[in-house]
Amino acid sequence: MDKKILVIEDNEQNLYLVKFILEKHGYEVIQARNGQAGIEIARQVSLDLILLDIQLPIMDGYEVARELKKLLGKKRVPIIAVTSYAMLGDREKALESGCTDYITKPINPDTFIDRIRQFLPNHNTVEDGE
Ligand code: MN
Repeated sequence: MDKKILVIEDNEQNLYLVKFILEKHGYEVIQARNGQAGIEIARQVSLDLILLDIQLPIMDGYEVARELKKLLGKKRVPIIAVTSYAMLGDREKALESGCTDYITKPINPDTFIDRIRQFLPNHNTVEDGE
């Protein structure tokens, strides 16, 4: 069964790119354009990984991460923060809010999928056709 990845991202271009890369590698992508929608999905769907943009409208990613952590409890669903903030301390802030790790924007299409695979217990075996 395909691994399900929830992508919480309000920027259409980033969402498109991330979805494109993940689907190309055989992952199922569920998208949410704000934190509240993402939390609602996490309540209903069993997920393998969550990619969380930090700069989001209404609730920022740190707040969303805290809510997801409460909701998911002991389920080990990795929450990976995705942010263009290159400031020192943001990684710590993301980790403090419950994120497992941190990926910086702009997304590098060459390394992105390897980073994602690090957090999934067994890799998808789908070839990427390259
Ligand atoms: Mn954003």
